[in-house]
Amino acid sequence: MFVIRPSSLTVFFLLFSVNLLDSRTVMGDLGWIAYPKNGWEEIGEVDENYAPIHTYQVCKVMEQNQNNWLLTSWISNEGASRIFIELKFTLRDCNSLPGGLGTCKETFNMYYFESDDEDGRNIKENQYIKIDTIAADESFTELDLGDRVMKLNTEVRDVGPLTKKGFYLAFQDVGACIALVSVRVYYKKCPSVIRNLARFPDTITGADSSQLLEVSGVCVNHSVTDEAPKMHCSAEGEWLVPIGKCLCKAGYEEKNNTCQAPSPVSSVKKGKITKNSISLSWQEPDRPNGIILEYEIKYFEKDQEMSYTIIKSKETTITADGLKPGSAYVFQIRARTAAGYGGFSRRFEFETSPVLAASSDQSQIPIIVVSVTVGVILLAVVIGFLLSGSCCDHGCGWASSLRAVAYPSLTWRCGYSKAKQDPEEEKMHFHNGHIKLPGVRTYIDPHTYEDPNQAVHEFAKEIEASCITIERVIGAGEFGEVCSGRLKLQGKRELPVAIKTLKVGYTEKQRRDFLGEASIMGQFDHPNIIHLEGVVTKSKPVMIVTEYMENGSLDTFLKKNDGQFTVIQLVGMLRGIASGMKYLSDMGYVHRDLAARNILINSNLVCKVSDFGLSRVLEDDPEAAYTTRGGKIPIRWTAPEAIAFRKFTSASDVWSYGIVMWEVMSYGERPYWEMTNQDVIKAVEEGYRLPSPMDCPAALYQLMLDCWQKDRNSRPKFDEIVSMLDKLIRNPSSLKTLVNASSRVSNLLVEHSPVGSGAYRSVGEWLEAIKMGRYTEIFMENGYSSMDAVAQVTLEDLRRLGVTLVGHQKKIMNSLQEMKVQLVNGMVPL
Ligand code: AMP
Repeated sequence: MFVIRPSSLTVFFLLFSVNLLDSRTVMGDLGWIAYPKNGWEEIGEVDENYAPIHTYQVCKVMEQNQNNWLLTSWISNEGASRIFIELKFTLRDCNSLPGGLGTCKETFNMYYFESDDEDGRNIKENQYIKIDTIAADESFTELDLGDRVMKLNTEVRDVGPLTKKGFYLAFQDVGACIALVSVRVYYKKCPSVIRNLARFPDTITGADSSQLLEVSGVCVNHSVTDEAPKMHCSAEGEWLVPIGKCLCKAGYEEKNNTCQAPSPVSSVKKGKITKNSISLSWQEPDRPNGIILEYEIKYFEKDQEMSYTIIKSKETTITADGLKPGSAYVFQIRARTAAGYGGFSRRFEFETSPVLAASSDQSQIPIIVVSVTVGVILLAVVIGFLLSGSCCDHGCGWASSLRAVAYPSLTWRCGYSKAKQDPEEEKMHFHNGHIKLPGVRTYIDPHTYEDPNQAVHEFAKEIEASCITIERVIGAGEFGEVCSGRLKLQGKRELPVAIKTLKVGYTEKQRRDFLGEASIMGQFDHPNIIHLEGVVTKSKPVMIVTEYMENGSLDTFLKKNDGQFTVIQLVGMLRGIASGMKYLSDMGYVHRDLAARNILINSNLVCKVSDFGLSRVLEDDPEAAYTTRGGKIPIRWTAPEAIAFRKFTSASDVWSYGIVMWEVMSYGERPYWEMTNQDVIKAVEEGYRLPSPMDCPAALYQLMLDCWQKDRNSRPKFDEIVSMLDKLIRNPSSLKTLVNASSRVSNLLVEHSPVGSGAYRSVGEWLEAIKMGRYTEIFMENGYSSMDAVAQVTLEDLRRLGVTLVGHQKKIMNSLQEMKVQLVNGMVPL
């Protein structure tokens, strides 16, 4: 049964339950046993379709000491360790029974007994375990039973963890007037889904009602792991917090959660062969799986696979020219549809015609002389043409044009040369694999390009305006309106998109700055970074087109939905942001303006980092204020060293991330409330930090404090933050310890003293004082339970204990050192 959870948010999950027993659907004998025999009795009723309904009733309200049992037959739990029992019943109100008030009851009891097989049936009543006392509920529907109006109640109870293969249920009546109309027993599971190209299997929920099961996904056919895909199956049967993803293999494209592509070209025939060229023809693949948009022909000289040429053609014939005479060449062909490329055909080998030796064929001499003469003349014409100042296709200067002459395209140079042969064909040369080396994942500052337009076109696809439909205005950016709309590119499915426009009357600098964001965004490819679809620069208005994020910016979204998410959902959002930031820091990109307002959130609650810019990022952030050194900085989100001497690094981004954590856990509260920027700078400099948001798990607040270490080298790195959050998600009970309400100072900042000193009564007190309280348990468990024992701790010991953060190691070792010095001075009784 599928149930769509009603929600005011655009988030919904499929909940899935599997029936183990439904008394309404059992046609024959249920096989239940009543004891004593004159207690519960089955009454033959039929529903509106005249199908029999198994209803059991008992009504011994006038008699003393009732103890009537109804035992079900054995129910297999099918591997589930938590099951749910839904009862529908009517219960007479004792007041409506004249004379029965003394003995009449208005409840009954439900029990269970676990057993691996049906042998458990004969066990004694006192071996059954009580599930609950069941009473009539307020939420009932009315059922008209002749002259009496009875109330049909529905009650659900759950039982777990179950450890055997099955169980019996039992209903005990102690003197009520009950009709048990139906019993449904079921378990919940997270139904098999495909998310981020990974398939997650049907997963039975965990035994504990708060348990999240981490489930690994398997990449769908023709895809490979990008980041190990995982999701979490909640006790309610909801999939939560997707992590990681698969990507279609090269040559495959994502479509409807699959990577499908045309079958390989199987028959390739040679046509005309000369000493410098080979013509080929082939047939469309047997299973094109769509309309063939083009073919890609890869060829290389035999045994020279590292240097190959690729020709693209819309036809099923091609001539490869400029080949060496008398040499063998290997050809492979693949087709592309809207779903992407299919696999390459097998290798086909053909040889060019040999050159006849000059000595053996004097008749060739005049031809060679003529060819050489013509060649020299042509070369002279080309050089003359270049000297006259003409440009090549790409507007390059003549130095590069001369280079092109010196190394004609078929000399197998490394790099990209786009020599158009025929309008239907495109040829590219590769060396050692690719035009652009993959895996070079370093951010390139668009400022390093003399011509900013070149940077845009290097990193962003040009989109024709006619492919975009603008639907409505959703926001205002610095340079113009932000709209939502749809993008339909040829051969691709239509996508919802956000469209940023550059308002009319812009200056050249504004245009450059506006498109700068696209030049940066276009370099990133990560599920937690807003994805650039492309730009429109050849027509007006100039536009930047990105994926559409249904829930808009995170700060507004959280304010609108105050208190509506589970801690796990909030941690899932934080995990996503941290993962995006890890990617950016790995690329060497420093964001400088990380804040909840610059995070976008989609309908699956996936958060993505956005707002990339050059110097202008801080210029157009309304939160950014001018500092004494000039330049605008969003003070509340920025690390002290970045405010004081503009030291922006990934470590200062980590500080901002700590502030984002605080914003998320407080549902969009303004950091430092209404304090002035000057007061914020002063307080932070003096060592004060934001207090924990309300109901915040202690582990998360500790992570925030770690991000706000004054010494930037002591702050965790983004990869450490991601793994820390992963650990918390895997073990949600670690999020149950909240920051102590009394230690939460709601309107004041918390003093964040550096290394503590003084006499400590316990290891816990000492670790708390130096804000390392999180390690107390580990210290105690490993025998460091007294300050004497602690005094012996070495750096190696800390690592062994799992204190892996360098900042924490330093803090603990420094504090010990300090205490030892004081001990020498006779001050601290270690
Ligand atoms: P920005 O100029 O990037 O700050 O965008 C201004 C506003 O437009 C944001 O605060 C969002 O509310 C909205 N917006 C920007 N990009 C998107 C997007 N990709 N999807 C949905 N809303 C967006």
